[in-house]
Amino acid sequence: MHTYNVDQEGYYGEFGGAYIPEILYQNVELLKNSYLKVLEDPKFQKEYHDLLRDYVGRPSPLYLTKRLSQKYGCKIYLKREDLNHTGAHKINNTIGQILLARRMGKTRIIAETGAGQHGVATATVCALMNMQCFIYMGKVDVERQKLNVEKMQMLGAQVIPVTSGNMTLKDATNEAIRDWCSNPSNTYYIIGSTVGPHPYPDMVARLQSVISEEIRKQLLEKENRKNPDYLIACVGGGSNAAGTIYHFLNEPSVSIVLAEAAGKGLNSGESAATIHLGKLGIIHGSKTLLMQSEDGQIEEPYSISAGLDYPGIGPLHAYLAKTGRSEVLAITDEEAIEAAFELTRLEGIIPAIESAHALGVLSKKNFKEDDVVVICLSGRGDKDMYTYIKEQKKRNG
Ligand SMILES: *Cc1c(COP(=O)(O)O)cnc(C)c1O
Repeated sequence: MHTYNVDQEGYYGEFGGAYIPEILYQNVELLKNSYLKVLEDPKFQKEYHDLLRDYVGRPSPLYLTKRLSQKYGCKIYLKREDLNHTGAHKINNTIGQILLARRMGKTRIIAETGAGQHGVATATVCALMNMQCFIYMGKVDVERQKLNVEKMQMLGAQVIPVTSGNMTLKDATNEAIRDWCSNPSNTYYIIGSTVGPHPYPDMVARLQSVISEEIRKQLLEKENRKNPDYLIACVGGGSNAAGTIYHFLNEPSVSIVLAEAAGKGLNSGESAATIHLGKLGIIHGSKTLLMQSEDGQIEEPYSISAGLDYPGIGPLHAYLAKTGRSEVLAITDEEAIEAAFELTRLEGIIPAIESAHALGVLSKKNFKEDDVVVICLSGRGDKDMYTYIKEQKKRNG
C-alpha cells in the first residue's frame, strides 16, 4: 500500500529534498532530527491542542450546507477554517512552529509573507509567546496590503519591505533565507506553507493535519461514515490542502480534487497554475514544479488571490498530482469570484478569495445525490472586500 510519506532524505518521489546554503546545514539538520520527537512529545501535544482549543477556537465546525447542497445535487460540507482566530488555517501552523522554536531555545522569529496573512499569524503567536518578530514582505505587497502591515506592527512585529526582484513573495522569501543565514544560532524561520527545504513540508502538513483529524471525527458523528467521497481544497503552497487530505491519503475511495489559480486563463500568460504549467526546478530549498521561462528564470505568477500566487508548489502536491492521487483543476479569477458570490448569497458566508477557488470546483464536477463532499473553507473574506466590491461594480455597471 502507498503511504505518501516523505522519505528519509525528505523526498516525495522525485520532489522535495533540502537544497540549502552550507551555512544553514546545521540548523536544518537539527530541525530535521528534532521535529518528529518534539511534535510527538505528549507535553508538546497538550500545549499545542490546548492552544488550538482555547486560543484558536478549535475544533472548527463541519457545516452541512443546505442551499449549496441543493444546487449541486449532493451533500456539501464546509470545514470552517474561516472561523479560526486571525481568520484562516494559517494559525494552526504558526502555533505549532513557535512552540517548537521555544523548545529549541530560539529567541528571534523571522517569516516571509505575501498578502500578509502568514505575517499576521506569525506576529500574533510572537506576541503570545513574547518573541522578537521580523516579517519580510515585498515592497509592492506592503503597499497593496496596508491593513495587514498595520496589524503586524500593532502586534509588535517589525515589517521589513523587500526591494529586490519584483518586490513580491518570492523576493521576500529570499530575504528571509538571507536573514537566517546571517543569524543561524538564535533565529527560527517560521515558513508559512508546505514549501521550503525538508523537514518544513512534512512538518507543516503534520501541524495542519488537525483539519483532517477533525473531519474524520465529525463525519462519523454526522454521517456515521469514516470517509467522504470527495475532499476539495485550494492550493497555493499547499498547506490547507495537505491538512485537509492528510488522514485520507491512503483511503482510495476518497477522491481528492484540488484547485490552483488559473488567473486570467491557463494560456493567458497571467496565471499561477504551477501544477499545470510548471517544470521541475529548485525554489527556496526544494525540488519541485515551478513556473519558469525557457532558460530557467522564475516567472512572476499572477492570480486575483494574493494567497495563491506562489511560483512553486509544495513537493507533496507535485507528487500527488504526478501519481494521479489528486486531480488538480485550474480555476480562473472569474470563476472564483462567481463562486464567492454564490456562497455568499446561498449560505451567508463570505469566503476568502483563495477558498473561493476551491468552491469553483463544484460547477466542474458531476456529483451523485448521496455523495458526501467536504470543502476546506480555508479563510474568511474580510481581507478581500475591496476586490469583491470592485467586481460587483463591474457587474452592475
Ligand atoms: C495563505 C492562504 C491560502 C494558501 O496557502 P496554502 O498553504 O496553499 O493553504 C489559502 N487560503 C487562505 C485563506 C490563505 O490565507
